[in-house]
Amino acid sequence: MKTPTQTNAIDFDRARLQRLGFGQLPLTQQRPISLAQLRQQLALQLQISLEPARILEIFFHEIQRVVPLDALRYLHPISDLRLEFGQRGHHSISYSLSHEGEQLGELIFRRNQRFTEQELGSLESLLASLLYPMRNALLYRAATRSALRDPLTETGNRVAMEQALQREFELARRHGQPISVLMLDIDHFKQINDNYGHSVGDTVLKTVAASIKDQLRNIDRVFRYGGEEFLILLSNTHREAAALVGERLRHAAQVQDYQGDGQLVSLTVSLGCATLLPGESTESLLRRADSALYVAKREGRNRLAMAG
Ligand code: GH3
Ligand code: MG
Ligand code: MG
Repeated sequence: MKTPTQTNAIDFDRARLQRLGFGQLPLTQQRPISLAQLRQQLALQLQISLEPARILEIFFHEIQRVVPLDALRYLHPISDLRLEFGQRGHHSISYSLSHEGEQLGELIFRRNQRFTEQELGSLESLLASLLYPMRNALLYRAATRSALRDPLTETGNRVAMEQALQREFELARRHGQPISVLMLDIDHFKQINDNYGHSVGDTVLKTVAASIKDQLRNIDRVFRYGGEEFLILLSNTHREAAALVGERLRHAAQVQDYQGDGQLVSLTVSLGCATLLPGESTESLLRRADSALYVAKREGRNRLAMAG
């Protein structure tokens, strides 16, 4: 007789999460726990997420059942991560996490009261439970980030652009916020390739991307739309403000010196600017920005044109 197949789906329902200690009870209401019990519990709890911030948030909350803290700071420059939980404290102790020579970040624990030797011993023992969850989360983060990034210019790729546009579009609709986009294209880029070679062209492209990113607020996003064409997504930005940003980008590209094989290369860019109209689709918004870019090219390049 055939035995029924076993399903291996793990259902993290409410009851199970409660048993695992996700009830979010204030620390003062939780039962005392031994170091060994806490380690065991953390081993389960920290598996629940692949998000470094979520893992550290759980860790910061739970370890306080054994070692009270005021703050935890996490730094991992390689993956551009800098996270802080809690308030600052006078005393601090820092640990560097690494696994088989791989740097997994630096943790700084802070509090106003001095740490005892016993507490430091406990912290060190609890840190072991963070090792694999953090390594997995960092690997996952690196994989998802590289899937969304253009490797040459370190800007977002088309997939990232579609996702960001969709997200901004929803936000704009819900909160009535304006969105503007700039379509930027390097002028006569083919000549740069022809005159200096493709590899100089690549270097110039990278520098243009870096200069765009330099000029923008963090919240604005840059995507490689095509070969030497970038889309800049300006959230919560009206037409007039977007035009100013575009003009700033145009000027920055013009005054920048580009290095290629020891030679100075100069270039200009053209831009098309469009602001989302009521009821408009993202496709139509991009089309209007593209048409405006075409107008800027036709009218002589090194300029910004506004979509009608
Ligand atoms: P326009 O002012 O009308 O934009 O002229 P253009 O020469 O910039 O425009 P066109 O679209 O004709 O040429 C773009 C060139 O960009 C063609 C292609 O060889 C080059 N290109 C596209 N992607 C890359 C890249 O990744 N690296 C390099 N080096 N060149 C690229
Ligand atoms: Mg071009
Ligand atoms: Mg082009």
